[in-house]
Parts: sequence; structure tokens; C-alpha cells
Amino acid sequence: MASKLLRAVILGPPGSGKGTVCQRIAQNFGLQHLSSGHFLRENIKANTVGAMARQYIEKGLLVPDHVITRLMLSELETRRGQHWLLDGFPRTLVQAEALDKICALDLVITLNIPFETLKDRLSRRWIHPPSGRVYNLDFNPPHVHGIDDITGEPLIQQEDDKPEAVAARLRQYKDVAKPVIELYKSRGVLHQFSGTETNKIWPYVYTLFSNKITPVQSKEAQ
Ligand code: AMP
Repeated sequence: MASKLLRAVILGPPGSGKGTVCQRIAQNFGLQHLSSGHFLRENIKANTVGAMARQYIEKGLLVPDHVITRLMLSELETRRGQHWLLDGFPRTLVQAEALDKICALDLVITLNIPFETLKDRLSRRWIHPPSGRVYNLDFNPPHVHGIDDITGEPLIQQEDDKPEAVAARLRQYKDVAKPVIELYKSRGVLHQFSGTETNKIWPYVYTLFSNKITPVQSKEAQ
């Protein structure tokens, strides 16, 4: 069953818990979790994409299709022999069509979450940049407001998690995701999940992937 390489995509607005679901899928099924937001931030740090991309991200806008498509297709090229799960790409129909030209997807999941919940969640996220530790003012607040528990250094709110940027990201997501979702629905590879709690949807996601690829760990692994 595991001989064919799995090509999967996860869709969902920012703050929908995509990152957490992806991590669990990657751990349980041993596939590469490829996040476009992560690659963009890495490339910006390394100055391998133009300064323009940084400006788009800081404003909560999508970077141009040709920039992200070139970046992601070259990442996929280096992972030809691996199972992978794309997170954050494709975001637009143009991107989905570019991906379509290089491979057929086996599985697309989309997470549906009320926008008000997302807005609250994202606006309450603070990070400690050197370590990548993430705090949420509701679920896991730091002991002292604005300060990292371990190092005592200041926490920051990522530019694209600030309320104005969040609202722009969500509006844009809704408009551009629709035709992408329609495309995958018409191909018969789309599976939709609704809910705000990762633990509740996880058993269904697990079963879906188990039907396509052999797990490398027990279901309980987090
Ligand atoms: P994410 O971590 O997926 O929320 O991405 C952070 C930011 O990177 C987004 O707000 C966009 O500015 C940019 N970005 C990530 N993926 C894409 C994409 N597929 N197309 C355009 N912009 C993207």
C-alpha cells in the first residue's frame, strides 16, 4: 500500500490549526510537511527572495503567484522521492493549476472554521523569535505578560498576526480559496472538516490518511 508516493494538500484559513494537524500527519505517516509560509520566511531571512515579498507578508497580502509558485515547485523538485503534504500552497487557482501540471494530488483536506474564532485566535498569538516558542493569551499565556518564560526576553506579535493584517488575510483567503476548493471537489479528492478543536477532527484525518499510507507510529502519537 505504501509504495505509491502520497501527494496531499491541506487548505484552511490562517489560524485554522492547519500547522498542528500537519505536524501530527507528518509524525504519524512519515511524510514531509511543506509550509509555504515557512519557506517564504526562511527565504526572506536568507535574502533569496526579493524585499517585495516581505512587504506583502507584513501587510497580510498574498505574495505574487509567480514568486510563490517558483519557490514551491523548486522545493517539490528536491523532494521528488518523498511523500509530502503541502500547507499554505496552493492558495489561488493560478497556483493550483501550476501544481496540477507537475502532479496529481491524492488527498486534499480543507478545514472550515468560523472567521470570528480565527480572528480572535490569531490576534492573541505572541512569539519568542529566537526560539520559535508560541504563546496564546487564552490557552498558554506567558507567566509575565510580554515576556518569554524561559529566557525572560521580550515577546513580539508577528507583523502578519496583528489585527489589521489578520482581517486582510482572512478576507483575501475567502475570495481566493473558493475556486481552489471547487477545483479539488470536481476532481473527487477533497475532504472537508468542520470544527475548532484539532483533537476532535484528528481521528477522522487519521483514518483518511491510513487508507492511503501506512502509519509509522501509533494513533496516540502527538
Ligand atoms: P502562512 O504562514 O501560510 O499564513 O503564510 C504567511 C504569509 O506568507 C501569508 O500571509 C502570505 O503573505 C504569504 N504566503 C504564504 N503562502 C502563500 C501562497 N501560497 N501564496 C501567496 N502568499 C503566500
